[in-house]
Amino acid sequence: MTDEAFHYDVLIVGGGSAACSAAHAVLEKTKSVGIIEKAPKRDRGGNSAMTGHIRFVFNGMEDLRPLVRNMPDDELRKLLDCGLPHRTEAEVWDELMRVTNNQADEELLHVHVTESLKTVQWLASKGHDWVPASLTNDNVLTMNGGGAGLQKRNFEILERNGAMFHYETAATELIVDKSGRVSGVRALTPAGFVTFHAKAIVLACGGFEANAEMRARYLGPGWDTVHVRGVPFNTGDGLRMAMDIGAMPHGSWSTCHASPQDIALPKFTVPSVHVHGDSLNRYMYPYGILVNMKGERFIDEVWDTRGRTYASMGRAIMAQPGGVAIQVLDARIRELNLYTSNYRKATTTKADTLEKLAAELDLPVANFVKTVREFNAAVQPGHYNPDRHTLDGKGTAGIYPPKSNYALEIDKPPFEAWPVRCGITFTFGGLKIDANTGQVQHVAGRPIAGLYAAGEMVGGLFVGAYASGSGMMSGATFGRIAGTAASAAALA
Ligand SMILES: Cc1cc2nc3c(=O)[nH]c(=O)nc-3n(C[C@H](O)[C@H](O)[C@H](O)COP(=O)(O)OP(=O)(O)OC[C@H]3O[C@@H](n4cnc5c(N)ncnc54)[C@H](O)[C@@H]3O)c2cc1C
Repeated sequence: MTDEAFHYDVLIVGGGSAACSAAHAVLEKTKSVGIIEKAPKRDRGGNSAMTGHIRFVFNGMEDLRPLVRNMPDDELRKLLDCGLPHRTEAEVWDELMRVTNNQADEELLHVHVTESLKTVQWLASKGHDWVPASLTNDNVLTMNGGGAGLQKRNFEILERNGAMFHYETAATELIVDKSGRVSGVRALTPAGFVTFHAKAIVLACGGFEANAEMRARYLGPGWDTVHVRGVPFNTGDGLRMAMDIGAMPHGSWSTCHASPQDIALPKFTVPSVHVHGDSLNRYMYPYGILVNMKGERFIDEVWDTRGRTYASMGRAIMAQPGGVAIQVLDARIRELNLYTSNYRKATTTKADTLEKLAAELDLPVANFVKTVREFNAAVQPGHYNPDRHTLDGKGTAGIYPPKSNYALEIDKPPFEAWPVRCGITFTFGGLKIDANTGQVQHVAGRPIAGLYAAGEMVGGLFVGAYASGSGMMSGATFGRIAGTAASAAALA
């Protein structure tokens, strides 16, 4: 089958949620859409298939109604009464500017913010639905079945509507004609090279988080050996292929989404073995303290809400000796019922005294006990309210680093400790696109004819940090936009 050729109006590279959104949009104009996916069919779905939720703008109950099925008004109202009555465009704009230190690309952010509600409602019109989110989630609603459910439905709907999937087919090169238009893709299959000809191409094949060489090159020393939370397939191929033909790199190539994960996090995960609910996430750090293997605190655990800090917390953990940190909590947190279910199977150590806990963890005992005592003495009075959406201002005074919110003494045995490592989720550096069409821009300052990009491949929206659920939102929105523009170009 070497040099077999296929022809489509639009070819989509990758099979994550950004690619699927693009495919839904293309199918509104033409049935001639091919999707090439590097993974085997059993592991299709990309990182998207392992996600929990999507963060979108809504102004109240009426905006959520089209997303849910068979949910009475009073149930929906009750969800909104739990501290998140709305998430307005202005709020989403402000929070992404806040977490990125005002470095988010304003044109991309404008589209991300103004198109998000439209996009989730459009996904609902394609056959998706939303259900109440868990109490630790940063949203009121979450995709039915999480990312796995979303992707399963995506494949069923797309296959039913005529999209052609090619699995174990890894794009290796873009084909460009004399005019500079991208007219196809070369791809490697188990049987050899295959050529795909198309009138327009959407690249949605992820970042470079699973490529050790690129991680070291762009993220810096040490990142080559970090464990990856997601699939081993996102090795930066689309970014490399596009830059090989002159695509403009954009955004923050030296930062990424990386979060605290159980010390037992494997090197990679694939959708067929991933446990829904992300059992390896260790996101309870706001309720206790984080220490390194010297027994010292190294960061303000709650400078903002968990959903706005966890994606940059991984980098702080990686910078500690051995790239390891310990989350320390005490019996009060159990009594307050704050533990999330995924801690049930976590790697842990429990002891009746701080000294015994430190000894079990091989921490310098005196140093660790001194850290906890100093922390306890620095806790200020105030109303403790560890609400997932708001900060309580109950912090410490006189220690560095401070803990700015949710500060409670750690003095009630038994004490529990959770060793964590950094897990990289996805990279922030990507390609420069036209925010309104998804068309990839050339370093010469002009758009590249026939080439569009979406999802993790888009650079500029996230810099240094991120707000939980924004990756899936960006992928769905820019996927829809790229698919719409690519099919219009293909049929022009
Ligand atoms: C465990 C985990 C949990 C997460 N939870 C959330 C969450 O709750 N909310 C949220 O917003 N974000 C979450 N994220 C981030 C989120 O997954 C991404 O932001 C989003 O999925 C990006 O979508 P995508 O389609 O660009 O990438 P992906 O879904 O990763 O899809 C990329 C696809 O491209 C394929 N591919 C790669 N190279 C090639 C090639 N050369 N040829 C063909 N195909 C190729 C891959 O196999 C993959 O299927 C999570 C990520 C992980 C790993």
